[in-house]
Amino acid sequence: MPNIIDGRQISKDIKSEIAAKVQQLKADGHRVPHLAIIIVGDDGASHTYVNGKINACKAVGFDFTLMHFASTISEQKLIKHIQQMNEDSDIDGFIVQIPLPEHISVEHITEQIAPEKDVDGFTNQNFGSIVSDNPLLLPATPFGIMELIRRYEISTTGKNCVVVGASRIAGAPLSLMMLQEGQATVTVCHKATVDLKSHTKEADILVVAVGKPGLITKDMVKEGAVVIDVGTTRVEDSSKKSGFRLSGDVVYEEVAPITSYITPVPGGVGPMTIASLLLNTLKAYERNR
Ligand code: NAP
Repeated sequence: MPNIIDGRQISKDIKSEIAAKVQQLKADGHRVPHLAIIIVGDDGASHTYVNGKINACKAVGFDFTLMHFASTISEQKLIKHIQQMNEDSDIDGFIVQIPLPEHISVEHITEQIAPEKDVDGFTNQNFGSIVSDNPLLLPATPFGIMELIRRYEISTTGKNCVVVGASRIAGAPLSLMMLQEGQATVTVCHKATVDLKSHTKEADILVVAVGKPGLITKDMVKEGAVVIDVGTTRVEDSSKKSGFRLSGDVVYEEVAPITSYITPVPGGVGPMTIASLLLNTLKAYERNR
C-alpha cells in the first residue's frame, strides 16, 4: 500500500509552527509580519484564492492588507502602487494575484516587485537564486513540494527525478530545486518531449505539473516510485454541489497502488502553496527587521 502524502496535515503543522512564532514575537514586543495582496478585477476563482490567503494570515496572526483594483486600471497605475509597496517598510511581502487583465503584462508587473518582498518567488532574481548557495525567496509551489518531501523524509540524493511540465511557476523551478537542493538526477519533460512514457517509467520520483487529467497512467510509472501530482483541473461532476471536482494529472486509482508515496488531489500539493507563502512572508519579515 502506498503512503499518502497528506499536504493538508503538513500545511496545518506549518501554520501552527508559524502561529507559535508570531505569539512569541508579540510577547517580545515586536510587530507581527505583514502581507499585502493586490487583486485586479472580479475573477471569481482569483477572489476565492485570495480569501484563502487572507484566512491563512488571520489563522497565524499576520497582519494583512488587501488592495482591490478595477480591471480597467492601467499598467502604469498598477506599477505605481507596486512601487509604493516596495517602499513601505511596514509591508514585509506582497503578491499580485494572477491572472491579470489582458492589457497588463504579468512579466512587466512581476519584475517591478522588489525581490526581497516577492513572497510568491516569481521575480527573475528569485528564480535565479534557486541555483545560488543562498536563495532569497523560493517560488511557493515548488518550495511547498520540497517541504513535503523533507517532512516525509523521502530521500532524493542520486535518485532519478522526472518532472513533467516546465512552466515558470511549477515544473522549471522544481527541477532546479531537485537538482540543487535535492541532488537528484533530473529530467524535465514538456509538450515537445518524444515518448513521454520512456522517461516517466525511469522515475524514482515523478512530479507531474501539466494540467491534463488522465495524462499519467499506471503503465507509465515504475513500481515503488514517489509520485507528486501538481495538476489541479476543474472537471464537471454533477454529484458535487459546486458542479465540479478537482482532478490531478495522474489517474490516482490505478497509479496509487504501485507507488511508495503519492499526493492526492485535492489535499496534496495544493494546501502547501499557501503554507509556503506564509513561510516566505516570515522570512521576508525577519530580513526586513
Ligand atoms: P502551464 O503554464 O500551462 O504549463 C504546463 C506545462 O506542461 C508546460 O511546460 C507544457 O509544455 C507542459 N505540457 C503540456 N502538455 C504536455 C504533455 N502532453 N506532456 C508533457 N508536458 C506537457 O501550467 P502550470 O501553471 O505549470 O500548471 C500546471 C498544473 O499545475 C495546472 O493544473 C495548475 O492548476 C496546477 N498548479 C497547481 C498549483 C497548486 O498550488 N496546487 C500551483 C501551480 C500550478 P511546454 O512548456 O512545452 O508548453
